[in-house]
Amino acid sequence: MARLLIVEDEPALRRALSINLKARGYEVLAADCGTAALKLAGAGALDLAIVDLGLPDLDGVEVIAGLRGWSQVPIIVLSARDGQAEKVRALDAGADDYVTKPFGMDELLARIRAAIRRSDHADTGGAVVTTDSFSIDLAAKRATKAGVEVRLTPTEWLLVEALLRHRGALVPSSQLLTEVWGNGYEKETNYLRVYFAQLRRKLEDKPSQPRYFVTEPGLGYRFES
Ligand code: CA
Repeated sequence: MARLLIVEDEPALRRALSINLKARGYEVLAADCGTAALKLAGAGALDLAIVDLGLPDLDGVEVIAGLRGWSQVPIIVLSARDGQAEKVRALDAGADDYVTKPFGMDELLARIRAAIRRSDHADTGGAVVTTDSFSIDLAAKRATKAGVEVRLTPTEWLLVEALLRHRGALVPSSQLLTEVWGNGYEKETNYLRVYFAQLRRKLEDKPSQPRYFVTEPGLGYRFES
């Protein structure tokens, strides 16, 4: 049975979606805000997330970015008719598809089936990364080294997430800077030097000879696990 997460703050729509999806044999988790959604998503593997972009606490795009910190789960966005720019931002943040409100249930069901087909169950619950030296739980935002909790700053978490999204791959410096600090910071490579030095001091056994947070000189960084 596929497990779906619905993030929608309008009670009537949330209820209608839950009823319809359950009637079609899906297991449904429902959240009325972004914070609750990220908590539910961190608690277990999902097959698909449906995210309304207009939420009371977080922007739906932040919810998508949060999910993408550790998960490749297919994400379908619900957006208002006039929300073109919003849609583009959602897709850029990692959403797979969108449905414009108001929508027909049949249309949404077809999109859900297609997205699940495409995903080949890529969400393997990879929220926890464990190495010989430390363990990082991206969903719970908890890092431990030798059983002791290591406190990371919000910026350090963003950087770790951005790197772990592409585990094993070279992530260009400009991409890390844009994902963590935003547009206009592409050339601030000294930020990366400072923050990676901090991360290595906190997590690596030999910070001066990093084994996990590896620099590719002149190119970017790589997480080796
Ligand atoms: Ca809404």
